[in-house]
Amino acid sequence: MFDYHLHSWVSHDSQCPPVEIIHAAEKAGLKEICFTDHYDFNDIDKTQHNTFALAAYREAYDEIASARVKVRRGMEFGMTTWNQDELSSMLNAYDFDFVIGSVHYMGGYDPYYKEFWIYNDPDTAFEKYLLHSLECVKTQNDFDVLGHLNYICKSEHNPAGKPLCYNDYRDICDEIMKTLVQKGKGMEINTSGVDRVGAFLPAVDFIKRFRQLGGEIITVGSDAHNAARVGQYIWGALEIAKDIFGYACTFENRKPIFHKL
Ligand SMILES: [Zn+2]
Ligand SMILES: [Zn+2]
Repeated sequence: MFDYHLHSWVSHDSQCPPVEIIHAAEKAGLKEICFTDHYDFNDIDKTQHNTFALAAYREAYDEIASARVKVRRGMEFGMTTWNQDELSSMLNAYDFDFVIGSVHYMGGYDPYYKEFWIYNDPDTAFEKYLLHSLECVKTQNDFDVLGHLNYICKSEHNPAGKPLCYNDYRDICDEIMKTLVQKGKGMEINTSGVDRVGAFLPAVDFIKRFRQLGGEIITVGSDAHNAARVGQYIWGALEIAKDIFGYACTFENRKPIFHKL
């Protein structure tokens, strides 16, 4: 019904016009979508990376609408331990409905790309990434949900080639999720890991634990960068949300709306 993680050509890594995303959402029977384009920073050199220009964002989305699908405007903010003011400034410049806080860069590299794995030892990278995510989640306050908690395992260059298991990193993962709960933040079930590593990002055991720890906000998103992937595996993610929460969330003006499933 919902897809709350979508990139159009406003993001550097998509060539897809927004209207094609909307048509795909209509065809997939979705009721509501949210564009979440990249606003990202390199954590070491502190430069903006892969960031949309607000003018391009406005041009793409200000007038766009569909009679069949509710369209929301969001962003995927690349969290570091120092860029909270950059997020505040962007939030003051435009009325976003929703902010995914994601951790992409670690030590100056993004684990999605090959370079990261040249400079990072695969045996310790998962733990380092989770510890870095914990620091980012502690630092930042202006996001709504944590994006793809185990993003590091998604890359085709990840030598492990498998999802990150909750049981292997229980203590750090619990700290991350407890911090989210304390701050009233949610998590997303990102479906882009299904084809890559055979699991949602994060997997079901994370989502169950988040609920046990008191988590209340849950969204679902495909992370599609093209029309073909819009809504992919969303119904599976909604089944998980239904089993564990009984609902899934959408957002308007940064406020969660709870939809019983
Ligand atoms: Zn991401
Ligand atoms: Zn994304």
